[in-house]
Amino acid sequence: MPEQPIAFDNSYARLPAGFFARINPTPVSAPALVALNRPLARRMGLDADWLASADGVAMLAGNALPPGAEPLAQAYAGHQFGGFVPQLGDGRALLLGEVVAPDGARFDLQLKGSGQTPFSRRGDGRAWLGPVLREYLVSEFMAAMDIPTTRALAAVTTGEQVFRETALPGAVLTRVASSHIRVGTFEFFAVRGDTDRLARLADHVIARHYPNALGPLSLLDGVIARQAVTIASWMALGFIHGVMNTDNMTVSGETIDYGPCAFMDEFDPCRVFSSIDQRGRYAWDEQPRIAVWNLAQLATCLIPLMGEQDAAVEAATRSVHAFPALYDAAWLHAFGAKLGISGPTEADRPLIEDFLRLMAATEADFTRSFAGLSDGSARAEFSDGAGFDTWHARWQKRTGGAPDTALMARANPRRIPRNHRIEQVIAAAVEGDYAPFERLYDAVTHPHEDRAEWSDLSAAPLPAERVCATFC
Ligand code: AMP
Ligand code: MG
Ligand code: MG
Repeated sequence: MPEQPIAFDNSYARLPAGFFARINPTPVSAPALVALNRPLARRMGLDADWLASADGVAMLAGNALPPGAEPLAQAYAGHQFGGFVPQLGDGRALLLGEVVAPDGARFDLQLKGSGQTPFSRRGDGRAWLGPVLREYLVSEFMAAMDIPTTRALAAVTTGEQVFRETALPGAVLTRVASSHIRVGTFEFFAVRGDTDRLARLADHVIARHYPNALGPLSLLDGVIARQAVTIASWMALGFIHGVMNTDNMTVSGETIDYGPCAFMDEFDPCRVFSSIDQRGRYAWDEQPRIAVWNLAQLATCLIPLMGEQDAAVEAATRSVHAFPALYDAAWLHAFGAKLGISGPTEADRPLIEDFLRLMAATEADFTRSFAGLSDGSARAEFSDGAGFDTWHARWQKRTGGAPDTALMARANPRRIPRNHRIEQVIAAAVEGDYAPFERLYDAVTHPHEDRAEWSDLSAAPLPAERVCATFC
């Protein structure tokens, strides 16, 4: 084993008491590596061969700590489905430390499913294999699509059982993020009236993510601008996060917490998958409004750091009110690209919206309808062929029959990690067969390649295969 397999530089661990609880992972009986993201390891400057070695796997399972690791559970609060919970925190995750890549980029290395912490409440601190593989596939697909996201570095099974409704194989995901700081991290200190630590947190986030920000107000503006782009990019993939609580919204702008998330197959703007989202708070078309709600909570937290109160309230309100325009611009850009229109203007909005309306009216497949515009196969996705033809003529007129095909190819994946495929992969993995996982991983991390061998993974589910609900 190299003396120093990982060069840690743990800036979060240097923050004062109150930000976290130091605690070691709970060892597991029989760790086994089931997935290792070698390109990501390289990106981070980590030795992938060491990670795959017995010593590396011991670290990824939480059975051994390399020199320099300083495991800690981060404290945070959060609004869950609109209700405030003053004390949440990493209940089943631990930050091992931070790694600075050769190019200077800083990454959190976090184990998810590594055992109980002081923030576990009644939870067992563990994860089972299904959600670990789901997060691995979906987050790496998002990365392949250039969507800001946390990443998956590795997955190990633990040799132990986790009890949900039934006994399931335990697993640990190694998650990588530019940080795990959430809107809820600010809420944790704000609700306690702890302005000192709130200010320390704001300084930390500015140094780490917004080095050009002049203070808390421009920090807020930065988060708002990044989240506007992130949420618009979700919309353009038919992605439903499923649990947009404030503790699941990062200040870096990265998508986090792939629990009950899902991509739509047939398009319905009100689609909800999460079994716990009974009232559709986090439905696909609610996501931009929920983002504003969450960012308003962040703004409220930052006001005590902004000087004279009335002026601070006014400035923070103005910042939050900027979200819709930023989001609308990002949405237009993202959906314009899907139609091969570079530099779209407001005049293009009806063309995009009418395509979505047409898709919704006949529940056309979201991914295939857009991808099919590139190769002439889109019409087959619409039961209303005449409606499609009318729209298609308008699109041809707008693009002069020559849409920007390179732009479209980048914006429209040939395939997404479809729910029914993910569930098939999980079912096989539970039986010890990882070949379907590896095949789906390969296919969704090459979303722009059109290979005949992957045609089944690009297909919409048969009626009997449709998945209607996801679970955390
Ligand atoms: P989530 O719904 O995934 O955002 O999680 C909400 C809170 O529950 C967070 O504080 C998690 O750390 C905690 N949590 C979720 N699952 C578990 C578990 N199995 N054991 C302990 N804490 C958990
Ligand atoms: Mg969470
Ligand atoms: Mg979760």
